[in-house]
Order: sequence, then structure tokens, then C-alpha cells
Amino acid sequence: MKLGKYSIGVGDRFSHQGVAQLRAIMKANSKGLDICPVWNKSNREHTYVHSVPADTRKEADEAVAALGYKGLYFVDADHINMSNVAAFVAHSDFFTLDVASFIGKESEPTAIKAFISSCSNYIGNLTIPGFEAELDVTPEILEKIANKFLAATQQAADIYNFLKAEKGAENFITEVSMDEVENPQTPLELLFILKMLADKGVPAQTIAPKFTGRFNKGVDYRGDLVQFAKEFEEDVLVIDFAVKEFGLPAELKLSVHSGSDKFSIYPIMADIIKKLDKGIHLKTAGTTWLEEVIGLAVAGGEGLELAKQIYANSFNRSEELCAPYADVIEIDNTQLPTVEEVTAWSSEKFANTLRHIPGHPDYNSNFRQLIHVAYKVAAEMGETYTNLLEKYADIVGGCVEENIYDRHFKRLFNL
Ligand SMILES: [Zn+2]
Repeated sequence: MKLGKYSIGVGDRFSHQGVAQLRAIMKANSKGLDICPVWNKSNREHTYVHSVPADTRKEADEAVAALGYKGLYFVDADHINMSNVAAFVAHSDFFTLDVASFIGKESEPTAIKAFISSCSNYIGNLTIPGFEAELDVTPEILEKIANKFLAATQQAADIYNFLKAEKGAENFITEVSMDEVENPQTPLELLFILKMLADKGVPAQTIAPKFTGRFNKGVDYRGDLVQFAKEFEEDVLVIDFAVKEFGLPAELKLSVHSGSDKFSIYPIMADIIKKLDKGIHLKTAGTTWLEEVIGLAVAGGEGLELAKQIYANSFNRSEELCAPYADVIEIDNTQLPTVEEVTAWSSEKFANTLRHIPGHPDYNSNFRQLIHVAYKVAAEMGETYTNLLEKYADIVGGCVEENIYDRHFKRLFNL
């Protein structure tokens, strides 16, 4: 199986927006693009909303059937590891092997030695086509990289081999992710991570490194845009080099785990992939859930009431809801409106505060981040929540489609 050049991971917490998401993708494709949809959901999300991997498969298949979509599409077992992969085997054909927790774990000294000696060709001044400067590679640097990443890449190989035995090598796409860590991987580290994966026979088609800067949930990128651009371009060049040098799949491309809505880096990524004629996989998830809340607010009546209830419950439980996402949210509590204030809001005020339109006078990124991590609150409401999603499906679906097309694709694909 091969993933197309451009692909988008559309997460959907409550599995109600598959059609709206696919409508946005088909609209972009009707303008000459060829974006491949991937429905991704992590084990963590399944646990919080009490869904199972079969639900994501059903949603994807039904959306594709409903709209008569004829292209390739995939169901991504997002951020899985050896302990939870089994439940996804039958339902997914895209697997994101999360090996971040194995970074820095010890490897056999013989394995480290063998890796360093397998890199003898690269010791000295290494030229990567397109790089401004040569890279200085020494045995000491290689040893450091091996100590940091050999165990993680071995873990990727172990999960990959399990999947290969279960599904057959040709029947799934492999992504390797290392993004959920504190420190970004440098392009040089990425180069040798890719060599390790190639050595171990992991045919990754996408790789998700941790990039420089903050990727807070649901809000824009915060960091040095110039540094990001340099690093992103070097990562793309490293991948190109690694494909040729190590024999990795020609399709291999970067996967950007965006945490949703990194608008200010979209045009940067767009320029670089266009200039170098490369593909990209962009993973989003929470942005659709936020559009559901916006849609309910816009619908008014009991929709607006429920949206306010979600905020009230989130506000009172913010510590608990934020805890699992501590590294990827930055909420200034002093900027959060009180529950009483929000209770008095109109549909328009609520939607404008939550909707991600940078520069809009009502937009509040603190409010947005809190709602982003509050899907657990909606999950606890059970059918009270999903029944309203169904009742207001047209309005909510319209918000979901507009968000993906207008705010994401227009920026990322210059539409
Ligand atoms: Zn991720």
C-alpha cells in the first residue's frame, strides 16, 4: 500500500463528521489537488470517548460510500505501541508507531558499535544536497545518536514485525512518530534515525519528528518561524537523501502532528514542499471537535445551552482535563471568562470566541485551548451530546467543512 503525495489526517473524536470532513477534501480535489484522507484516532482518544477502532473504520467506509469517493483512504491507528496495537489490527491500514517513550533507553553495546561502524561512509564532512553547510559527523556524535535512538527504532521494528506477521507487509502504511517529547530532533538525528529504521527493515512512509517550537493544542504555532522554516526544509532534504542512500520507500515524507491549527507555519511548509516537489502528511484531530461545539453554539437553543454547559464543566475541572496535555497547552487562567459571563453570551459571541480566526476581536486562545481538551466532558454527556450533533448535523457539518477547507487547505495548498 502506498500513501499519496498529499494526505491529511482528520481526527474525529465522536465519529459523526466523516462526511463533512470528506466533503472538504473532495472540494479541494475538485480544484486539481489529490489529497488522500486518513481518519486517525489514538488509543487515548478511544479511551476517553469510549469508542473502539471498529467505529473509526465504519465512519470512514460510510463517509466514502455516502459521497461516492473513489480515491484511496486510510484508517490510522494513531500513536499505538506494543501494549495496545492488537485491538487496531483488524480495522486499520495505517499505523503510527509511537516510540517516543523508548528514546534514550539503553541498547546492547554491541548493537551500538555495529551501528557506528555501519556509518563509516558518513564520518567526516557529510554533504546533503540542498544544505547550506556540510554536516560534521564524528564517531562520538554517532554514539550519542545511537544511545538516544537505537532502542526506539528497535521498538518500531518490533511493532512493525508484529503487524507484518498479522496483516502482511503490503496491507498497511507505516508511520513512525517521535513527536511527543520535549526536545526536537535535529535534521542530523533524523538522518540517522532513518538509517536505523532502514537497517531494521521498517518501510516507513511517513515520519513524525518533534519540530522546534510549541505545538499547543488547537491554537497557532508559537516559536521562531525562521528557525522552523530552516529545520523543516532540512528535514525534507534529509528524507530525500535517506530514501536514495538507505533504500527507504520513495513515498517517505514528513508527518506533521499539528495539534491542530498551526496556521502560521502552513504557508512556510507549503512553499518548501512546492519548491522541493515533496509530499506531506498533516495530522489534525481536535479542530473538528471544536467545530462541533461552535456548530452547536451557532444552532442556538439547546445547542447553545449545551455548548455553555461544556464550558461550565470544563472550567470547573480544568486541572484534571489539562493534566494529560500539560506539555502541549498554555492557558492563562486570568484570561478565561467566568461561567457567569459565558452563560450570558449569544450564539455569535460564543462562536466568535471559540472559532480560530486570529485577529478577530472576540477570539480567545485560552478559551479555545480549554475546550480543546474538554472532549472528555462531552463524552460523559453521552447521547445528550451526540443526539444534538445529529439534530444539528447540517449546521455542525457546515462548520466542520468550512474549517478544514477555508482555514486549513487554503493556507496549506494555496487554494
Ligand atoms: Zn503526535
